[in-house]
Amino acid sequence: MPSSNATTRALPNIIVTGTPGVGKTSHCEALAERSGLRHVSVNQVVKDKQCHEGWDEEYQSWVVDEDKLLDALEDDAKQGGCIIDWHACDLFPQSWIDLVVVLRVDSTTLYDRLKARNYPEVKLQENLDSEIMEVLLQEARESYDEEIVIELQSNDTDEMESNVDRIVGWLEQWKKDNGRDAA
Ligand code: ADP
Repeated sequence: MPSSNATTRALPNIIVTGTPGVGKTSHCEALAERSGLRHVSVNQVVKDKQCHEGWDEEYQSWVVDEDKLLDALEDDAKQGGCIIDWHACDLFPQSWIDLVVVLRVDSTTLYDRLKARNYPEVKLQENLDSEIMEVLLQEARESYDEEIVIELQSNDTDEMESNVDRIVGWLEQWKKDNGRDAA
């Protein structure tokens, strides 16, 4: 696992990203409970702070205003200790982020999860294609230093548990490296 450079943040910021349905929210909730870091659901922030330009009927999702979203997240990000839960990662400034976790899942499992959510056909297909084409992994690798991007499988609960263990281990190391473990 990578460790980050010196920072003024008291705690690191972690992005948990991946195609819708890979398990971002489940991981973030488990990780928040284990680590005490804050789960920042970008979906919720977009809704609550109106960081959007309206609702897209076809995709059944908000059209996000990225500038407004970044303004809304800036204070939390500066403070640190955020687990950012979002299906994109290239909009966040590199300086905000200490670790980028890209979750991956087999396409049959993803199909079942998205079907269970009653996704519109066009959105379901687009997300399956995106997972197969590794779109989020590429986006993460293009947007951040290679050493802070990790790819983890999220097909079942055993994988989720070991992923959370691994990220908690990374966090403990980050605290030691940044002199925050005695706090
Ligand atoms: P996302 O936030 O990426 O859209 P969710 O965390 O909402 O994904 O997960 C979508 C569905 O898949 C939920 O029903 C969740 O319980 C299930 N799920 C996600 N990851 C796993 C996993 N690793 N093992 C078992 N079920 C999972």
